[in-house]
Amino acid sequence: MSGSPRALTIPDALLAAAYRHARATFPAECVGWLVGPAGGDAVSALRPCENAYDAAAHPTANDRSVETAYALSVADCRELDRAMSSAAPPRVLYHSHPNGRAYFSATDREVALGGWDEPVYPLQQLVVGIDAACVVEARLFAWDADEREFVVVATYAGAAA
Ligand SMILES: [Zn+2]
Repeated sequence: MSGSPRALTIPDALLAAAYRHARATFPAECVGWLVGPAGGDAVSALRPCENAYDAAAHPTANDRSVETAYALSVADCRELDRAMSSAAPPRVLYHSHPNGRAYFSATDREVALGGWDEPVYPLQQLVVGIDAACVVEARLFAWDADEREFVVVATYAGAAA
């Protein structure tokens, strides 16, 4: 790997679609992915997922909820895995933070690495910071193989979504 990772291009319409998904699930986190041509530098479609976190969590024995965490369903995990080898694979995983802040959390990193020392899938990560009033900010993160860390590769303006 040479140099810093470059942001995939997310067309405005797809960014807006991710914002709408974040609004629809607020105050829960939304999750989904953006697909694009294999080897290309842009994404071309959005594939929303259902946040399956609450299905697995016990309401009194867990300090997290769909408002502070996301999880893919088993079916979505299988689909993600299958689609990775398609002509238009998932390129970006997106989720929202209902606290309005678009940072890549320690938990986000753990989920992306899945217990390994580099990401399970070669996905960039879009985080949408949304609150009750609007989308505050959004950032795109990518794995920097030299830094061994996710770094910000693009920042997007919020919206009155
Ligand atoms: Zn997160």
